[in-house]
Amino acid sequence: MNHQELTINHQQTPNYAPLLIAPAQVLRGENILSQSGAAIAAFGKRPLIVGGNHTLEIIQPYLQPIIQEYKLEPAQASYLPDCTESSLTKLRDTVATHKADFIIGVGGGKALDTAKLLADQCQISVVTIPTSGATCAAWTALSNIYSETSAFQYDVTLARCPDLLILDYSLIRTAPQRMLVAGIGDAIAKWYEASVSSGKSTATLTIAAVQQARILRDILLQKSTAALENDRGDDWPEVVDATVLLAGVIGGIGGANCRTVAAHAVHNGLTHIQSAHHPLHGEKVAYGILVQLRLEEMLQGNQLAVSARKQLLEFYTDIGLPQTLEDLGLGNISLSQLRLAAEVACQPNSDIHRLPFLVSSEQLMAAMVSTRELAASPVGREIPG
Ligand SMILES: [Zn+2]
Repeated sequence: MNHQELTINHQQTPNYAPLLIAPAQVLRGENILSQSGAAIAAFGKRPLIVGGNHTLEIIQPYLQPIIQEYKLEPAQASYLPDCTESSLTKLRDTVATHKADFIIGVGGGKALDTAKLLADQCQISVVTIPTSGATCAAWTALSNIYSETSAFQYDVTLARCPDLLILDYSLIRTAPQRMLVAGIGDAIAKWYEASVSSGKSTATLTIAAVQQARILRDILLQKSTAALENDRGDDWPEVVDATVLLAGVIGGIGGANCRTVAAHAVHNGLTHIQSAHHPLHGEKVAYGILVQLRLEEMLQGNQLAVSARKQLLEFYTDIGLPQTLEDLGLGNISLSQLRLAAEVACQPNSDIHRLPFLVSSEQLMAAMVSTRELAASPVGREIPG
C-alpha cells in the first residue's frame, strides 16, 4: 500500500466517540472519606454539595471535619424532586450565586446523575460519593433525565467521567440492604443486555466489555447471597465493588456499542406509571431482565433464555429481587396502565429494538405478565412449574 492509499484509508476511518472509561481517581476503603480531604480540596474552596434532603443530613458528620481542616466554604442544595431539567436550572443558579468552583454529589443514582450533569453544564469538576451500592452512577459519564413526575425522558452523555469517586464502605454499609440488592439487579443486567446488543461484535473493546459483563454476572451469582447475609464478611465489599465499580467499567469500555436492551426499556416504560415510583431502579431493571428473557423465549424459541430465566428466578428468590409485577407492588395496575408502560417501552427509539426480532406492545404485555411462567411455555415444557 503506497502512502496515498494509506492517507485515503485513514480519511475513511470513522470518527469514534471519545472513550470515557473511568473516573480520573477512585479512592476506596473503610472510612476512606475521612482521609480524602486533600483530594477533595484539590478541586477548589467553594463546593456545592448536591444530594437528597436525607443524604445531605447524613453526610454532614463525614464532611464537616474536612470542611474545617481545609477551610472550605460549601453550600448545599437538594436535587429533588428528581434529576429534571427544572432541578438543573435551579441548581445552575445556585452554582452562580454561591460562586461554586466544584460539585460534590452524594447519594444514589439520581442525586449523582444530577451532580454530574450540573458539573458538566457549568464546566467545573465533580466528586461523587455514593451512599449505597444501588447503581454505578458514581462512575459513569452518563446522566438520566426524568420528568417532573419522575417518568424517564432521555439520557445525556457527559464530557468525562467524574474527577474523583470516593467509595467509602462504612458509608455504604449504613444504607438499607434493599439498595445493594437493587444494585445487584442493575449490575447483573449488563450481561443479559450487552450479550444481546453486542454479543456478535468483532470490536476489541466491545468484546472485552461483554466478557467483563459475564464475569460480573458470575461474581454476583456466586457471592451475593453470602454478602447479603454478612456485611462484615469477605464477600460484601466484593459485591459492592461489582455493583458500583465493575458495572461502571463495563459501561465505560463498552460505551455506546454496549447498550441497554429490553430490561432497561421495560424499566423506562414502568416509570411512566405513577404507582411504579416506589420500586427502585435496579428492582425494575431486574424484573425487566426476566421480561427480556421471556421475549427471547416466546418470540425466538430461545432455549437458553428459558434456563437463564429459571436460574435468575432461583437467584432472585435467594436475594429478594422482584420476579413479577405483583412483587413490584403493581399487581393492581389497570390494563391501560400496563398498555401505557408497554407502548413507551416499544417506542421507535427504544432500546428494546436492539433485540434481534421485532417486538409489539401486545407481545411485550404478554411477556410482562408471565415472567414466572415455566410449565405452560411452548419451549419450556420440560421444566416443572
Ligand atoms: Zn440501570
